[in-house]
Amino acid sequence: MKTIVIKQDESFEEAAKILRRGGLVAFPTETVYGLGGDALNPESSRKIYAAKNRPSDNPLIVHICDISALNRLCAEVPEYAYKLAQRFWPGPLTMILKKSAAVPYETTGGLDTVAVRMPDHEGALKLLRESGVFIAAPSANLSGKPSPTTAEHVFHDMNGRIDAIIDGGEVGIGIESTIVDLTKAPFAILRPGYITPVMLESVLKEVIYDPAIIDANASKDLRPRAPGMKYRHYAPKAELTIIKGLEQSVVDKINSMVENNILSGLKTGIIAAEETADRYKAGNVKIAGSIKDPVTISHSLYGILRSFDDEETDVIYSESFDRERLCGDNGGSASDEEFAGAIMNRLTKAAGHHIMEV
Ligand code: AMP
Ligand code: MG
Repeated sequence: MKTIVIKQDESFEEAAKILRRGGLVAFPTETVYGLGGDALNPESSRKIYAAKNRPSDNPLIVHICDISALNRLCAEVPEYAYKLAQRFWPGPLTMILKKSAAVPYETTGGLDTVAVRMPDHEGALKLLRESGVFIAAPSANLSGKPSPTTAEHVFHDMNGRIDAIIDGGEVGIGIESTIVDLTKAPFAILRPGYITPVMLESVLKEVIYDPAIIDANASKDLRPRAPGMKYRHYAPKAELTIIKGLEQSVVDKINSMVENNILSGLKTGIIAAEETADRYKAGNVKIAGSIKDPVTISHSLYGILRSFDDEETDVIYSESFDRERLCGDNGGSASDEEFAGAIMNRLTKAAGHHIMEV
């Protein structure tokens, strides 16, 4: 199959046709690139699983461009779901609701619930409007790779496997949407993201984190409510360790480990904050972003992990971007603090929970 690349400012006529006839189009959103197909066409959903090599019990998120779509896709839409939609859509919030008969089980991985979101991105919204279809889309990476944050990442994983890619440049947030399950009380966050519990509590009385995602030990016994969270997460080819502690102690520890690695001939990468990057004496330093602005870090994290893979790095040390560091003395808000937790959730999984305290 030839994969065509369409720029976001070009005509979407062809892309819309591809979706309507059951083909696959990858597109940018404000979180990561999605791999889209017609959500109401079971054949399209099957193709999505095949293109990604994704297990078919891992449900897809259905993207919409109009709140009224909730009535078509969901068996019942509680008042608070509309309130959340009004408040946070378009935006990086995915809601789980009871599905209607219109949504095939192929799209929901066999579940009676459906995940719905309205993305906050010009390219995504234009594709939704012009195609007139609800677009089922997981992240547009091969299973086992980090979610793509540029059209080039998508091309790397999906060239020859899908019909088209819409190139909207780099995405903004860079990590996947927050998923909140509204089908049973207490309402729970199944996957942390940019929209935090503090923000949701402006509409919902109580929101908890799915206990299975909170810590590594818990997740061995508890089954996460989002099927996707149970799969082995992307891990870079290199051994990744997060170093946590007082800033200068972390820098010193990493410098001494890099020195040893050089003697043993190991290619070493470092993931650092803008504020500390120039304190490293050796190693391949990549700047994740500023600790004063957590979204700069989420924005570049997956791209950095991909480039260490491409560069055949043996060992990676990452500074920790935990809540204390991102918010401690930096005047971050309560929401920044929770968002730091979402970033650490992805980084810790990529590190296989390897954390070194210094
Ligand atoms: P991705 O688009 O690759 O980020 O994957 C979508 C995520 O949403 C996966 O973790 C799924 O398990 C989760 N998800 C989608 N639909 C549902 C649902 N009905 N119930 C729970 N989790 C869901
Ligand atoms: Mg994914």
